[in-house]
Amino acid sequence: MIAMPPLPTTVLGERLMTLAADLNQYTDEPGRLRRLYLSPAHRAAAEAVMRMMEAAGMSAHIDAAGTVVGRYEGIEPGAPALLVGSHIDTVVDAGSYDGMLGVLAGIVAVEELARRGERMPFAIEVLAFGDEENVRFPTNLSTSQAIAGTYDRAWLDGRDYDGMSLREALLAFGGDPEAVTQLGRDPSSVKGYIEFHIEQGPVLERENLPVGIVSAINGITRARGVVTGEAGHAGTVPMALRRDAFAALSEMNLAVERIGARDPSTVATIGMAKVAPNASNVIPGRVDFMLDVRAPDDPVRHAIVEEMVAEMRDIAARRHVALDLDLYFDAPATAMDAGLMRALETAVTGQGIGARHLPSGAGHDAMAMARLCPSAMVFVRCKGGISHNPAESITVDDADVAVRVLVDAIKAFAEHNG
Ligand SMILES: [Zn+2]
Repeated sequence: MIAMPPLPTTVLGERLMTLAADLNQYTDEPGRLRRLYLSPAHRAAAEAVMRMMEAAGMSAHIDAAGTVVGRYEGIEPGAPALLVGSHIDTVVDAGSYDGMLGVLAGIVAVEELARRGERMPFAIEVLAFGDEENVRFPTNLSTSQAIAGTYDRAWLDGRDYDGMSLREALLAFGGDPEAVTQLGRDPSSVKGYIEFHIEQGPVLERENLPVGIVSAINGITRARGVVTGEAGHAGTVPMALRRDAFAALSEMNLAVERIGARDPSTVATIGMAKVAPNASNVIPGRVDFMLDVRAPDDPVRHAIVEEMVAEMRDIAARRHVALDLDLYFDAPATAMDAGLMRALETAVTGQGIGARHLPSGAGHDAMAMARLCPSAMVFVRCKGGISHNPAESITVDDADVAVRVLVDAIKAFAEHNG
């Protein structure tokens, strides 16, 4: 093998940005980016991604569920594959990098390996999932769950806002609803899954780091609650005789905030509160609210939720209001694989960057993939932490670091997994 000289400056980052700009043109709504699962724009983007994969040296196809799959063979053809991916569907009025970054980093990394004439002891497959945002159909990461072998057949009967079923939409797209449940990979055929994604938060920017390694995808507790006090005239009922439901919830929210802030890895939010009767001259008699608590560690999350609930009940009792709380949702955290994380740490520190670990507060395809194989994620700094917004922005330099980290991580992983 002829040794190739290293690339100067930010060629890989520039390449990624060029491909991202190219993908940006595939939208269902002229003037802003909207690319929902199985839409005409999704089809066009999937075909564009397929061409990018082929140009990078991969064989590529679109699978029965709409995922674009590109494969770069290893030293021996047919070897198990290291999977790299993310998604190309978007929210309405989306930015250019949420999802696309991880797909394009995979394509550019393979392109660079092919340019150097390097092959690994395993194949590399780049996956462009299509149903991560779950905007159109009542599904949950359906395209990555298909690959993980956990596809729920009932999703096919779900309908979008226009009344079209997922089954019909898949047929119109050129997919195969009968084959989606057969896409599940044999665990012995995959080495692992790596996903690069914009951070969608402000931590890396604040710490002046281009990338960070995800420690775990947070588990989530969601609760809906009602505080019931007594409505009354805002002018005539003395303060001491009130049972103000909103004042009680306010005190509860301060407790939630204080307990949620104690551990830097946990977050807690009362993001919805509906005051009734909601009039300026009436003491609130009732507040309906939602509580959302997330943590990378399930026992920690369960412990702080228990503490919050106990304190909220104390506050309710002291204020003579009723608290009705329903902890209706509990999703466990997704651990990231230690071996893949080590390969990523080697790659990150090799770029002269400190290996910062941080939890993921949002869900990702990696949650589905972790049920199939060892999985890991890298966050890339994004401007202002902004996402799901056309103002989403990353720099060429950071894109370049991301691709270099991916290339080096693949090689570091190969050293220990030959
Ligand atoms: Zn995303």
